[in-house]
Amino acid sequence: MDHFLYRDGQLFAEDVAIADIAATVGTPFYVYSTATLQRHFKLFDEALDGMPHLVCFAMKSLSNQAVLRVLAQAGAGMDVVSGGEYCRAKAAGVSGDKIVFSGVGKTADEMRMALTGGIRQFNVESEPEMVVLSAVAVELGVEAPITIRVNPDVDAKTHAKIATGKSENKFGIPISRARAVYKMAAELLGLKVIGIDVHIGSQLTDLAPFEAAYLKVADLVETLRADGHKIGRLDLGGGLGIPYTRSNEAPPLPSDYGAMIKRTLGHLDCEIEIEPGRLISGNAGLMVSKVIYVKEGEDREFLIIDAAMNDLIRPAMYEAHHDIVPVIEPDVAHTPAKYDVVGPVCESGDTFGKARDMPVLAANDLVAFRSAGAYGAVMSSEYNSRPMIPEVLVNGDQFAVIRARPTYEEMIDRDIIPQWL
Ligand SMILES: *Cc1c(COP(=O)(O)O)cnc(C)c1O
Repeated sequence: MDHFLYRDGQLFAEDVAIADIAATVGTPFYVYSTATLQRHFKLFDEALDGMPHLVCFAMKSLSNQAVLRVLAQAGAGMDVVSGGEYCRAKAAGVSGDKIVFSGVGKTADEMRMALTGGIRQFNVESEPEMVVLSAVAVELGVEAPITIRVNPDVDAKTHAKIATGKSENKFGIPISRARAVYKMAAELLGLKVIGIDVHIGSQLTDLAPFEAAYLKVADLVETLRADGHKIGRLDLGGGLGIPYTRSNEAPPLPSDYGAMIKRTLGHLDCEIEIEPGRLISGNAGLMVSKVIYVKEGEDREFLIIDAAMNDLIRPAMYEAHHDIVPVIEPDVAHTPAKYDVVGPVCESGDTFGKARDMPVLAANDLVAFRSAGAYGAVMSSEYNSRPMIPEVLVNGDQFAVIRARPTYEEMIDRDIIPQWL
């Protein structure tokens, strides 16, 4: 459920007409709904009711300071994957004891920053990383709380670029080697083993792969405890998928997910952490764009819009589908049309959708991409020297620009001319 609905023939974000935002900030832009962000966080939080838990928002999906503040105020922790994200989380008011540091390539500098500023735990992904973290902790005279990310070798049945839990993926240590690696961790100075971490992929639309992974984790808890390790926290990763089309089958609800977690892991007396990204932010955002031209091709019509692959790369990168809807609600008796929706970038990959059923549209009409809150703005670039598009946050009947569109001058002024030129 989201808060982007037609009202009186016009698309709204909560109580604000999309057309009013467009008139103020220009197109294209991203717009997020505060109510949807809060609602999605709450669904997860309530799904784990009855177990000690923390929902850590995977902020790589959407990391604007204003969005982080909304979620932090709702009680969310943060899952960060870089020093930059760590700083963003701190700047948004999240305390270190609610920040989890994930990622396969943490540098010594990033570890130092987190150990100094405060950290809930590092999710360690390899032996060499463990050795470096140990050295940094010893150098600072502190203990680094860690879980070790295990790779359970389950098929998440998702797009190959976002599957992370098969043995051929770069993530985690093979679960078959877990005992040896935990032994090594226990022997290293400066490390405090507190639990286990697992994350098998993104946009999973079935609970079965999660369950298979969590059953393996449950076994591992018993094994590691028998080996003498204190396993008190389980970080179960993120990855629950969202419906990208109105028509397709609905993915499992957070409540079903929570019930499965209780069933598979509830008896272990562990604190549960989850790291949802997309399910909190995905359907909390739209990308809004304007038609520049309607172009007649040989056998099709192109809707050329003012947003492009640099603004929303998911279709080009993952063959992802986004529903694209007109901002003026089509009449029931509207004339149907079929469009290939494309951006202005000089690559054929700059295609958002082929043969999309839409009403007849004309230059200057607005369209909205649904489910664009996650992995949208954060993955955008200025390719083709197209300035980063603004982000807008709606809250009830108010809206605010939360990242402004740079002017051409600001964009150019980031380049530096060496003195010899
Ligand atoms: C990407 C990622 C997530 C979030 O994934 P979603 O599919 O957006 O929920 C959580 N944890 C880790 C370690 C990740 O890499």
